[in-house]
Amino acid sequence: MSDTLFESLHNILPELPLLAAEPLAKHSSFRIGGPAEVMACPENEAQLLALLGACRELGIVPRVLGCGTNILAPDGGLPGIVISTRGLDQLRLTEAGEIEAGCGLPLARLAVFAQRSGLTGLEFAHGIPGSVGGGVYMNAGAYGGELAQVLTAVRFVTLDGRISQYEGEAMGLGYRRSVFMEQPGLILSARFRLQPGEPEAILARMRELMERRRASQPLELPSAGSTFKRPVGGYAAALIQEAGLKGFRVGDAAVSEKHSGFVVNLGSATAADVLTLMARIREIVKAKSGIELEPEVRIW
Ligand SMILES: Cc1cc2nc3c(=O)[nH]c(=O)nc-3n(C[C@H](O)[C@H](O)[C@H](O)COP(=O)(O)OP(=O)(O)OC[C@H]3O[C@@H](n4cnc5c(N)ncnc54)[C@H](O)[C@@H]3O)c2cc1C
Repeated sequence: MSDTLFESLHNILPELPLLAAEPLAKHSSFRIGGPAEVMACPENEAQLLALLGACRELGIVPRVLGCGTNILAPDGGLPGIVISTRGLDQLRLTEAGEIEAGCGLPLARLAVFAQRSGLTGLEFAHGIPGSVGGGVYMNAGAYGGELAQVLTAVRFVTLDGRISQYEGEAMGLGYRRSVFMEQPGLILSARFRLQPGEPEAILARMRELMERRRASQPLELPSAGSTFKRPVGGYAAALIQEAGLKGFRVGDAAVSEKHSGFVVNLGSATAADVLTLMARIREIVKAKSGIELEPEVRIW
């Protein structure tokens, strides 16, 4: 009998932590998704680079998973390898006064580190539940801030193992968009330039924004945040609400009663439920307003 993918990868990299048939639902804030054939969890960059080499050897194009707060994973799971970046969470203040963070570091930890270092500019990111890598990939933003405002450089590795640094316009940052969406590979780390600030005032602003989030978003239910991007000339939540879709439901996937921009999982929603619901929302909003909603959630 030939080796399973798990065995083959384990034989090449015996030190690398691996999980076989790992339910993606456990790693997605939607709590949806069947098993990844293999989930690889590198603990440092050297392990990650060796893993990319092994993927090439095995002829596999891996998927990259940060905190899983902006993905919809398929009910049937995924063949191949999913790389979890959670172990790549290094964090330091550089001599130039910038913060350098590994891709797997939660944005909340990055924001708290900045606050404690007396640096302002990342308060908006404190309540975004993703990682540095996922945040850069999406150019995550909230309450008037977005990572593009503070990001100075990104280290990126292609699937063939070439590492390069991106700065300024080369990062292609726009509304929920970056150049990293257009090329297969992995964001390794990012650098942020912030301004000196008063730690107490920074903390107060982070708390205020978290309160606003709690008051307006259905944080008590699994979701992937805003399901659709903000269309030109409107807000997705307002368009969905005006189309009479608040609470609209397919199986256990529903438009949140608290915030129409969120699709929530009421208990046992499947990816198929969410996709059907999203398709219906898009059809009805298009018919009522003429506006085409574009998914923000990455459909795997
Ligand atoms: C309750 C809630 C509230 C939210 N609020 C906001 C908000 O206010 N603003 C906002 O912008 N978003 C928000 N989001 C969405 C989400 O948190 C962000 O998009 C976040 O940046 C995703 O990061 P992640 O690590 O979870 O990415 P994941 O969901 O793990 O991945 C998202 C995409 O990024 C890719 N990716 C992840 N890491 C890397 C890497 N290192 N290299 C290359 N590609 C990578 C993945 O392959 C995938 O395609 C919210 C989500 C939830 C559940």
